[in-house]
Amino acid sequence: RAAAPRDSWSSESSGSSGSWDPPYRVVLLGDPGVGKTSLANLFAGLQDRDLLEQHGEAAYKRTLSVDGEETTLLVMDTWQPEQPGEESRRRSQCLQVGNAYVIVYSITDRGSFESASELRIQLRRARQAEDIPIILVGNKTDLVRCREVSVEEGRACAVVFDCKFIETSAALQHNVAELFEGVVRQIRLRRGGKES
Ligand code: GDP
Repeated sequence: RAAAPRDSWSSESSGSSGSWDPPYRVVLLGDPGVGKTSLANLFAGLQDRDLLEQHGEAAYKRTLSVDGEETTLLVMDTWQPEQPGEESRRRSQCLQVGNAYVIVYSITDRGSFESASELRIQLRRARQAEDIPIILVGNKTDLVRCREVSVEEGRACAVVFDCKFIETSAALQHNVAELFEGVVRQIRLRRGGKES
């Protein structure tokens, strides 16, 4: 059998689609205020921070060791709300560049949950033929009394939209590491699937 290159980081010679070379680009999507920047900052802050300026926006690069293997993610906090009359080039670019997507809503804001579904649909439209990892994230679980979206609803939505689901609290740093580890595993599953 053709041995897969042991050092997958130096795979320039593989000739495969450049878009799947590390670092893997993980784009955060979701309504304003749901906690995207907070999650990105936690991702960046868990280790030495490497703040990059990408198209004048924040992107954080970090290498995670998951299941004994290292994977470098570039987490992009570049999503902007739709402005009336504004050209949507930036938004469609966000929908094109990701190797994986984290769609965030706040469990305290039903509107943001509905937006998450809408984003999932937009993403499917933009990347029709591709099997990209998507993780649906219900953030702000610490705000127990303000909850408007139940865990069951979140989970059911993820089943319908064929994506992974996790609830987090950026404020309590709960499940944030697990979220990004999950992203890494999802990326590896796709990568492995393409190689086999
Ligand atoms: P973004 O607009 O999606 O990037 O959201 P931000 O990360 O800027 O967060 C918006 C507001 O929600 C800020 O005041 C955050 O401190 C707050 N926030 C974010 N995550 C949480 C959380 O898990 N729990 C609570 N209680 N507040 C949060």
